[in-house]
Amino acid sequence: MGFTSLGLSAPILKAIGDQGYDKPSPIQEQAIPAVLAGKDVMAAAQTGTGKTAGFTLPILELLDNGQRVKPNHVRALVLTPTRELAAQVQDNIYKYSRYQKLTSNVVFGGVKINPQMMKLRKGTDILVATPGRLLDLYQQNAIQFSQLEVLVLDEADRMLDMGFIRDIRKILALLPQKRQNLLFSATFSDEIRQLAKGLVNNPVEVSVAPANSTANTIEQSIYPTDKRKKAPMLCKLIQEGDWKQVLVFCRTKHGANRLSYYLNGQGITAAPIHGNKSQNARTKALADFKSGEVRVLVATDIAARGIDIPQLPQVVNFELPHVAEDYVHRIGRTGRAGEVGKAISLVEAAEASELFAIEKLIQQVLPRLELEGYKAVNELPKSKLDTRPIRPKKPKKPKKPKIDHIDGQRSGDNARGHKPAGKNKRHYGSSTTQNRNSKSGANG
Ligand code: ADP
Ligand code: MG
Repeated sequence: MGFTSLGLSAPILKAIGDQGYDKPSPIQEQAIPAVLAGKDVMAAAQTGTGKTAGFTLPILELLDNGQRVKPNHVRALVLTPTRELAAQVQDNIYKYSRYQKLTSNVVFGGVKINPQMMKLRKGTDILVATPGRLLDLYQQNAIQFSQLEVLVLDEADRMLDMGFIRDIRKILALLPQKRQNLLFSATFSDEIRQLAKGLVNNPVEVSVAPANSTANTIEQSIYPTDKRKKAPMLCKLIQEGDWKQVLVFCRTKHGANRLSYYLNGQGITAAPIHGNKSQNARTKALADFKSGEVRVLVATDIAARGIDIPQLPQVVNFELPHVAEDYVHRIGRTGRAGEVGKAISLVEAAEASELFAIEKLIQQVLPRLELEGYKAVNELPKSKLDTRPIRPKKPKKPKKPKIDHIDGQRSGDNARGHKPAGKNKRHYGSSTTQNRNSKSGANG
């Protein structure tokens, strides 16, 4: 089935043609007609399946009805968890709407607020925003919601993981009751369903991949090794494999900086991307990586979430994530759209429990490879796949944040001051520092 049969009109079809897409992806095929019908929609499909166009295209169709947006108003609002993702989604909207009269804008934290207030003055048909900055702008009277028709939560699972729930609820309270709600996510977790209860009415549910399954176009393997051998081993793998474009995941911002510095010292161009970097530095790192000027992008989980780099051939886990689901998100960056991708993990003995949790989640023992000269002295325990079903997680209780964002103490950064409860705590615990730093960055 082609795009023409989905009910989109000529200017949108022309823009799709410019992108070179010849048919809708499975999630688009299901989501687009439901959104066009004015329904609330919950959509789940793994990363890289074209969810952005799944909500953007029908919204562009719905808004193109001759209605004019009033000054400082917005007709459709897309919330995303990170700055990169916000910029990327708006980039998509801009491309798909080029033959229409509709306007779009993007706002996020970590950069000056004044230019964003100016941009919003004329009114915006589609606004893409991170939650914190949106609330800041609202408090400064830069934005009004009485004309709002459509709300989208993109990467809703990640927004919850990152502790945005309170901000989301605050935003919901500001919006008109009568509106269309769209919730897009990689998975339908218990938390997502909980959130959906207070958000969507009679939703059409669409999904394509089973939750937490990894795309089968990804070849996964691990190299058991020792901590201090990881960096030189990575160099060797990059050089011997002649890898041209590789995304490497570290657990911490410091780790990402250190590794990037080391690689550059070895003559392999690398750039870190994480929340302590200014927005400009992050945009530049991503652009340089996409253009091939930088060979290795060293990322933390939060910074990398949702970044769209087409057909990434290599993903490396320099360290395994503490949260097993993040492994699935990380390797989702490779093997997209039918391309075969490789995901390798350098694993030291101390990471055995993380490894076993991942293998349990993906229900697969990862094949172990060796690189001469870099074998583990400290032996990594053998994997035993536990095939008992995974118990559903209890919904998290919302935790009282330490900072009251209403008082303007917000940084508007991706990760908010309040930490998610429970097991994610350790993992995202550094977000407070990230906020503080980016705030001073934004003001300075
Ligand atoms: P997701 O939000 O599901 O992770 P994206 O919306 O970022 O995925 O899309 C992933 C990639 O697929 C993008 O590069 C996008 O341009 C491309 N894409 C989207 N729809 C199609 C399509 N119908 N045909 C080919 N490529 C597509
Ligand atoms: Mg997406």
